[in-house]
Amino acid sequence: MALAFEGGSSFLLRMRRRPVKSALIGFAILLLVALLSFAWTFAPIRLDVPQIDVGALPPAAPPAAMSISALPTGTYEAPAALAFRGGSWSEKRAFAATGVLVRHPKGDLLIDTGFGRNVERQLKLLPSLQQSPHHLGRPVIDQLAETHADTITAIIPTHAHWDHISGVDDLHGIPVLVSDAGQRFIDSHGEGTEVLNSFRDVSYRPYHFDGASYLGFPVSHDMYGDGSVVIVPAPGHTPDSVIVFVNLHSGKRYAFIGDLVWQMEGLTRPAEKPWMMRLLIGENRSEIRTDIARMRAATTLYPQITAVPAHDGRAFSSIAIYPASTR
Ligand SMILES: [Zn+2]
Repeated sequence: MALAFEGGSSFLLRMRRRPVKSALIGFAILLLVALLSFAWTFAPIRLDVPQIDVGALPPAAPPAAMSISALPTGTYEAPAALAFRGGSWSEKRAFAATGVLVRHPKGDLLIDTGFGRNVERQLKLLPSLQQSPHHLGRPVIDQLAETHADTITAIIPTHAHWDHISGVDDLHGIPVLVSDAGQRFIDSHGEGTEVLNSFRDVSYRPYHFDGASYLGFPVSHDMYGDGSVVIVPAPGHTPDSVIVFVNLHSGKRYAFIGDLVWQMEGLTRPAEKPWMMRLLIGENRSEIRTDIARMRAATTLYPQITAVPAHDGRAFSSIAIYPASTR
């Protein structure tokens, strides 16, 4: 009986262990599936984009004196794998933080400011995950001669994120142009607006998308009325994101597309940002996809347009660095 009892107790023990073992196997399988699914979000899957009719090339009559210059203010490093699906983990990309000076007889403009003098202090306002290690070069204010800074009549941020508006803090008194969506986003004090909202006495100047459709974008705003600088809404990365088209007298055209894509491959492959990055930023996937389609269609049909993602240094290669300029 004793033996029978012992046999019975070890049988009961085995019965108790079996569910534990099954649960462990189930958990391991779930973990493996989760890991594989996560890895898949970085896989080189081509982004499926819709066909877009971008219409005729919009007319532009830029003055001969108009020019643009790049103002590189620094870089931060990230693996290509975090920039677009299919990027390599071993390939480090130097993300550019570059402002663009547009010189126009009716008043100069600055598209994005890159890193300002106080970028270190500003970064501490962000969640630690977003405090990217970076290399600070020369802020815009230090690159521009004092006299030249005075000629800037407005700053057009492609969106309100720190790496695009950090230098606003150095350029006191120069109005920051914001659309209605831009003002709503800034006033929401939502994630991504911490740095801009920490600046004192920013003078916002509203503008409205009062113009016709432009290269597939439903509305536009013509800065000078001559078609040389035209802003279109491109929400998706953030609700306030815009694309700034700059058309030069020579016939060269540029589209400063902000963070629609982080590197050229986003447009050329096309490839979206990895799921994890889109989630962290809170991007609207469908809007991004449509805007990538619009930019691909526009640059394919009209090769005189160069699309410039704000963080791809290669995209700036045809733009002279200040004080030189491209006409
Ligand atoms: Zn950015």
